[in-house]
Amino acid sequence: MQFRSTKSSGPLVSFKDAVLHCLPSDGGLYVPDQVIDIRQFFLHMDEKITYPELVATVAPTLLQGELNPFSASRVAESAFDFEPELIRLDDNLSILNLYKGPTGFFKDFGIAFLAAVMEELLKKSGQALILSAARGDTGVSMAHAFSKRKGICSVLVYPSGPIRGLDPATFVPNGGNIIPIQIKGTFDDCQRLIMETINDREFSGRYGVTCANAINPGRLLPQTFYYLYAFIKIKKYLSGDLVFSVPSGNFGNLIAGLYAWKFGMPVNGFIAAMNANNAFGDYIRGNPFVPRPLVNTNSPALDVSVPSNYERLASFYKEAPAVMRNMVYPASIGDDLTQWTIEHAWKKYKIHIDPHTAVALAAAEQVSAAHEWSGHVHTVVLATGHPAKEADLVRKATGQAIDIPESLQALQKKSDPIAVISPQLDAFEGAIASCF
Ligand SMILES: *Cc1c(COP(=O)(O)O)cnc(C)c1O
Repeated sequence: MQFRSTKSSGPLVSFKDAVLHCLPSDGGLYVPDQVIDIRQFFLHMDEKITYPELVATVAPTLLQGELNPFSASRVAESAFDFEPELIRLDDNLSILNLYKGPTGFFKDFGIAFLAAVMEELLKKSGQALILSAARGDTGVSMAHAFSKRKGICSVLVYPSGPIRGLDPATFVPNGGNIIPIQIKGTFDDCQRLIMETINDREFSGRYGVTCANAINPGRLLPQTFYYLYAFIKIKKYLSGDLVFSVPSGNFGNLIAGLYAWKFGMPVNGFIAAMNANNAFGDYIRGNPFVPRPLVNTNSPALDVSVPSNYERLASFYKEAPAVMRNMVYPASIGDDLTQWTIEHAWKKYKIHIDPHTAVALAAAEQVSAAHEWSGHVHTVVLATGHPAKEADLVRKATGQAIDIPESLQALQKKSDPIAVISPQLDAFEGAIASCF
């Protein structure tokens, strides 16, 4: 599979180049240039297939010429010691738990694959230094996935504020390969510094600098695998249509679902489940996208005013606007209904869900009622966050105290970065260089 920029029809780049350069120089985003039909590889898969087996089967077909079946199997085995979990709640509803990874959110799936595939792709050609701006638990997920990967150092760039969940034993000065650096500034300063470093050709050439933010195709592509996995597990129960409900902030997860559909997965629609930050719903309904000011909600990972994957989604709509209108259903859920839905899920199905998942479940019920789907559509709700990460809200909604697994408790432990610097390029490059 080759990739091109959303802003032009060429030049085409390989998966490896798209991963290692992450952003085309014209300001667009990388998208697959051609659609590969992989139907024959998963349609007949046994439902007992494990997640690494599925990844090892599908990835070499998608990445033909770049990842052979042996490499793919190594990547899948080393990335995934956790799996998605599909639970059928009733005839019309399932939940796909994507929070069983090391940091309790679905982003672990993309990050774990990225780290493993980079190690594999770099095997013959040396070194890479991966820069990522770290917010929330993304830094921990990165550190976990990249720790001990040969030939790769991972630089985590933090804005001002506490840094949590890292293990100092993995830091470069202690013999590891993780370099946490704190900027006296904001998250935007972190992202700007990363772009400046990449554009400093001399420095980035010397250290093999690349970036690994959420729009890297190496994180996006592997998110299609759990949609295929869900389909394989559910297909024998399907008699009518299949729809996925996806809690959407930057829309990476939803785009990955659309790729799975393009690759041949039989699916009839996706619900773009948003909270009060719902301006993107206008775009999905066919109106111009006019961003609105950010609103803080009780599902903070969805508090996004301009989705970073806007260009990618727009390229789907440009290609086939009428098809897309029937494929993606927008919905917007307020804080009260989110909290009520956490309670409702507990009472009706005896499951604990986090607020992001609650937005998707409430959206599924809303869209289903509006279109009178009951009885002939099966909806799979994507559970993107571990309920224990929002234990207070879940307790408030359900009256139930919930256990916080030890691995998630460790996310709360504070640690110090190896350097705290002003948000300037020379200070930043100096801090990195001092590690070598
Ligand atoms: C990041 C995140 C989302 C939003 O996913 P996008 O791909 O940005 O749409 C939803 N839920 C949780 C828990 C998240 O961490």
